[in-house]
Amino acid sequence: MAAAFTSHSTLVMKFGGTSVGTPGAMAQVASLIERYRQDWPHIVVVTSALSGVTDTLLRTARKAAQGEMVSLRQARADLETRHRRVVEALLPQGVQDPVWFVIQNRLDAFVRLVEAMAVLGEATPRGLDAVAALGERMSAPLLARVLEVRGLPAVTVDAGDLVVTDAHFQAAHPLVEPTRQRIQQRLAPLLEEGRIPVVTGFLGATEDGVTTTLGRGGSDYSASLIASLLPADEVWIWTDVNGVMTADPRLVPEARTVPRLSYREVAELAYFGAKVLHPKAIRPVIEAGIPLRVRNTFDPDGPDTLILARRDDAEPGRIMALTVIRDLAMVIVEGRGMLGVPGVAARTFAAVAGTNTSVLMISLASSEQSICFIVPQNTTRKVIAALEEAFQQELARKDIDRIWAMEPVAIITAVGEGLRNTPGVAGRLFGALGQAGVNIVAIAQGASEVALSLVVNQDDVLAALQALHPLTG
Ligand code: ASP
Ligand code: MG
Repeated sequence: MAAAFTSHSTLVMKFGGTSVGTPGAMAQVASLIERYRQDWPHIVVVTSALSGVTDTLLRTARKAAQGEMVSLRQARADLETRHRRVVEALLPQGVQDPVWFVIQNRLDAFVRLVEAMAVLGEATPRGLDAVAALGERMSAPLLARVLEVRGLPAVTVDAGDLVVTDAHFQAAHPLVEPTRQRIQQRLAPLLEEGRIPVVTGFLGATEDGVTTTLGRGGSDYSASLIASLLPADEVWIWTDVNGVMTADPRLVPEARTVPRLSYREVAELAYFGAKVLHPKAIRPVIEAGIPLRVRNTFDPDGPDTLILARRDDAEPGRIMALTVIRDLAMVIVEGRGMLGVPGVAARTFAAVAGTNTSVLMISLASSEQSICFIVPQNTTRKVIAALEEAFQQELARKDIDRIWAMEPVAIITAVGEGLRNTPGVAGRLFGALGQAGVNIVAIAQGASEVALSLVVNQDDVLAALQALHPLTG
């Protein structure tokens, strides 16, 4: 086994789908790698599939399993065109063939896998992972080749040889020790030779070599996992926005980049719907204490967000950012006869769990005679049906008067270190909302220390965000 890689000059850069989605974008990525190589002797690149490719692959497979085969030919043609454009724009004619051969092979594999699913009339999670992984298995060799023609010593590394996972297809869990070993054996020596590994994000393989994926958006997770096990000194997630914003700029035009966030803040933001980072991506770097930056491929000199274990500038109670999750329902179980009856809450959540619905938030309502919680709106009917069945007797006896839902509602979450424990913060939030005429339907119970969540009617989201945004920063 190779010696542990110990250099303190290693950077992992992950590029998202839009960053590699067009010839222009991929050329920009190559320039960025070229540029930062001047400062960082060891660079590992992790790439997503070209934007939209994973969606196309999975959609086609699912349709085929339902007997709809017409889209396969079209999908193959579209995928071929997307990659061909990059090949033709960025690679001189003489060197196009080898990478084009790889891409054609992947597309052939795609067709064979999807045809098999059509024959079986079934798309298993295992099969879907084999299909989904093909996107990165095309983008990584392509990017590596683009780097090579610029004179950079890039080499494609398939994460199937690097990231060892369990067999939980479509949301596989990496196995840390075997993955660490592979990284030391395969990645570290390449870095020591001065090569630039270009690793397929998103995917891994079981110990037996069966392809798995880490879940949609999982390339961030790949990058932070690899960084934590090398270990690297920093991870940069390159995307198409200027880091983490104080709010969604489409809703709040004054939204700004948040310059620094703590791991805890970013974890809450990811959990509560901010799409900048995969929620799981943060954990490996937290444990390893590696700073992570979120940067804009298309504005590399513009503002970005640095995510650190602790913010030295943390003023407790300052709101750093606001996020929204929409299309939710607040389910309410209410009745005077519930007061003091033990086990009602446990039975409520057991019934909900039985429908395989995840509860986003348990809330405090104005009345003590009710239990309220938030679920995705599209699960409302099955959740209420399950509760009505579980509480049949109580409903008949009128101990429970009603099980109903208020919908659509949205959760607005304010994130900031010490938010929950700093006196006056909730008051300021409520005051701002009151002035804007926004009614707070519920507030979060037992939310994390760094987050404060409110439920509002979906119609009030815009007014609420605009009222709250001046409190950020
Ligand atoms: N390509 C995968 C997806 O679209 C993984 C990623 O881009 O993070 O989900
Ligand atoms: Mg992503």
